[in-house]
Amino acid sequence: MVEWHIAARGVTDERVLAAMASVPRELFLLKSVAADAYADSPLPIGHGQTISQPYIVALTAEAARLSPGDRVLDVGTGSGYAAAVYAATGADVWSVEFVPALAEQARAALDAAGFGAVRVVTGDGTLGLADQAPFDAILAAAAGPEIPRPWIDQLVEGGRIVMPLERRPGWQQLVRATRRGDDLEIDDLGGVRFVPLRGEHGLS
Ligand code: SAH
Repeated sequence: MVEWHIAARGVTDERVLAAMASVPRELFLLKSVAADAYADSPLPIGHGQTISQPYIVALTAEAARLSPGDRVLDVGTGSGYAAAVYAATGADVWSVEFVPALAEQARAALDAAGFGAVRVVTGDGTLGLADQAPFDAILAAAAGPEIPRPWIDQLVEGGRIVMPLERRPGWQQLVRATRRGDDLEIDDLGGVRFVPLRGEHGLS
């Protein structure tokens, strides 16, 4: 999967490719869809949510320029798969999930896959995680109307936010925002399709 779907589509960061190859995606799936674990597509994980498409996880990790020891906030734990990939690059990961049952399921899957070091927190990730800030990177797997203000405040100088923005209904763009003093440098990473970000600074 890594060679065909990830490297072939332009992801070159060796650390990200190695991380993708090392995380057993089937451990993050419902048994009913485990056979499709290595297809490059989003799959249902219950509660109306989906596990991220591997290519998008790789693209996000590469865009975030993750380095070992980086403090990373992952918003929208879902299955825990993306959090595991970020942790496999050597980052220190906190992951926030809105739906308590999903957070619990992810906690178990992360433990089973050997990623017990990832901290899973239940709550509204659009508020960030003030008591663990600042972060080197904040990565979201759900689309919001704009970059939540708390994330900018909780980012180190030079830190990166990678998230999908809903530019208008049905049209989402993955963007990277890099903090430069009081400014954000924005890079457009292309069109994507994510579930909506809920909560105070979300879409609903
Ligand atoms: N990266 C996940 C993808 C999960 S889909 C994976 O690899 O499986 C997006 C997730 O974001 C859903 O589980 C949804 O419940 C969660 N979510 C939506 N709004 C949120 C918010 N404000 N805070 C935390 N999680 C949120």
